[in-house]
Amino acid sequence: MEMMKAVVFYGPGKMSYEDVPKPVPQEGEVCVKVKYASICGSDIEEYKVGSDRARPPLIFGHEFSGEVVEIGPGVSKERLGQRVSVNPILYCGKCYYCQKGLINLCNNRRSVGRTLGVEKKRCDGGFAQYVCVPEFSLVPLKEEVTFEDAALLEPLAVCYCAAKEGNFEKGEKVLVMGTGPIGLMVIQFLKIFGSGKIVATDVVDFKLEAAEKCGADYAINVKKEPLEKVLELTDNLGFDRVIVTASAPGVIKDSIKLVKNGGGIVLVSLIRENVEINPTEIVGRKLSIYGSYMFTSEMHEVIDYIVDKKLNLDNIISSIHPLSEAPELFKELSSGNHSEIKVLLKVD
Ligand SMILES: [Zn+2]
Ligand SMILES: [Zn+2]
Repeated sequence: MEMMKAVVFYGPGKMSYEDVPKPVPQEGEVCVKVKYASICGSDIEEYKVGSDRARPPLIFGHEFSGEVVEIGPGVSKERLGQRVSVNPILYCGKCYYCQKGLINLCNNRRSVGRTLGVEKKRCDGGFAQYVCVPEFSLVPLKEEVTFEDAALLEPLAVCYCAAKEGNFEKGEKVLVMGTGPIGLMVIQFLKIFGSGKIVATDVVDFKLEAAEKCGADYAINVKKEPLEKVLELTDNLGFDRVIVTASAPGVIKDSIKLVKNGGGIVLVSLIRENVEINPTEIVGRKLSIYGSYMFTSEMHEVIDYIVDKKLNLDNIISSIHPLSEAPELFKELSSGNHSEIKVLLKVD
């Protein structure tokens, strides 16, 4: 049996770089030789606490780029050698939602690098030398897009959709809560789409500095400054839209305080704790709450923004490490004691 190097998750706090069998592409599948894989905030969360979405043993990695090196039966030979990224949403193609093109809402969906779906079947991801995925999930790259940047296509598509979700209007005053990689990429898209005043909040200074570089007009540390100070930037009226990318449950209540009457709150981060909300406040102030989950075909659209140099990914990628260092990196990143934004793994 042919072997390869991979990073295997064995439960909260446990991860190892080891030899595993190299996967063989089945009917309709291709084998991608991974070049770069990016560590997602959700990977770090699963590493810390674990969940049904990541039953061990599992190879993480749903944000990656590479080259098609092998094809299974029924796949066109032209795929061989193609430079690609991968849409990790493994949708069924048959259900009500899939028929409407809403693959992110497919009830039967599974995901690369996760154990989603009814059977919680393991779908190994890109933290490995090779990964097999269905041909339909390939996103071919344009020549101008580097493998490094292509490893960010998936989260970029998430942010592209989140930035447009809800009652988007040109010139709006918008607040982005949380300036991790998702918040920062949302800010870049808001700027491109023509939002007016963009305000960012977080509790970590270096992330707020990055937010300013990404186009936020104001970046406020809400650990040091009161919420009133944020509200003042709207003449105490509140923001047209608040986009929540932070994961502390308290941000939900704050978002309600900071949005204007009739405004919209877009939830992007997966906050797992219950949060108490008084429905009267939603009704009486005519607020709208939107969930923004993944995307459908937007990975393709995002490529053009990279080609046209409209996005600055140097402000997002903070370091690149060899795949072998992943177990150490996860330890460091989950401790919160670091100054990383987005970490890429280089796979040889
Ligand atoms: Zn992700
Ligand atoms: Zn479906």
